[in-house]
Amino acid sequence: MIHRTGTAVQAESTQEPQIASWQAQLAAAALTPQQLAARLDLPATAVQDAAGAAGQFALRVPEAFLRRMQPGNPRDPLLLQVLPSAAELTPHPGYSADPLGETDSNPVQGLIHKYHGRVLLIASGGCAINCRYCFRRHFPYSDNQLGPEQWRQVMTYLAADPSIEEVILSGGDPLATPDARLGRMMDELQELPHLKRLRLHTRLPVVIPDRITPELLQRLAASPLQTVMVVHINHANELDAPLRSALAKIRETGTTLLNQTVLLRGINDGLAPLKQLSEQLFEAGVLPYYLHLLDPVAGAAHFAVTEDSARRLAGALADNLPGYLVPRLVCERAGASAKVPLTPILSENGA
Ligand code: SF4
Repeated sequence: MIHRTGTAVQAESTQEPQIASWQAQLAAAALTPQQLAARLDLPATAVQDAAGAAGQFALRVPEAFLRRMQPGNPRDPLLLQVLPSAAELTPHPGYSADPLGETDSNPVQGLIHKYHGRVLLIASGGCAINCRYCFRRHFPYSDNQLGPEQWRQVMTYLAADPSIEEVILSGGDPLATPDARLGRMMDELQELPHLKRLRLHTRLPVVIPDRITPELLQRLAASPLQTVMVVHINHANELDAPLRSALAKIRETGTTLLNQTVLLRGINDGLAPLKQLSEQLFEAGVLPYYLHLLDPVAGAAHFAVTEDSARRLAGALADNLPGYLVPRLVCERAGASAKVPLTPILSENGA
């Protein structure tokens, strides 16, 4: 007989406890505000408004991420990223279901071709965690499943366009895909003679560090393509020991590790949390790459930081850190040929 203790599955004997597979951890994720409140010892009032928003965009938080939250603290910066709120239900002018016009750049099911030289594949419609500010929270994943026929069409599209040098596996989260399927996709992609780089945009190693399996590491190490992994960490509290260990293993495969952060009101919109994040990312072998202004997706307006405040924060970071630790402040605009850089506002007598 097997018991589940947290996410660790422990055999009934004196044997060493076995760690649950990442899939088992995913399946055991908290899915209701009540589970979250009970697990974190939160007052009932902290989740009383969550049901309506959770009905529109489900709550999902694995234990490995919950473990990094402070029990009893309804303002915990990790909790605020995942806790549904009644504020999501208030419509705001300028906030829409498809803020980046991605459905207009969707020439083949499962493929988004917005920028020159690179395409994005929706490798999976699933995520390990549901971030309330997600710009794809309304994306029609069910219309963009990559079944065998769609995959064949994607490969035909890629083979016909030699200007495409980089494929970005995204989602959802591409690492929600089992290793065997991911491996088959990588095998086929690396046969394209014009492809140089394979990039994975993922939050799964952050949320469930055990997702970094020996099979995945072996695949990354063996790829003839240059491999880049862009993880998504918004706050230094996300960088616990299991995540640092997973990141070190990824680096050992020769994969370049970059981070993107979304600037979120009440979560990381201050000099101290952003500076601490950059420093701790670097300690973990990850370069701070982008600091994103929130995309104006319906349901997320309460996370928005104004462009002016964001530019001042980026300026303060530049005043206080070496350049390689200052992420580029950017926003995405529908129809733009690349991410739009926003110039930091430096202090008059910055260091
Ligand atoms: S992991 Fe990424 S794609 Fe998934 S919900 Fe969070 S922000 Fe969105």
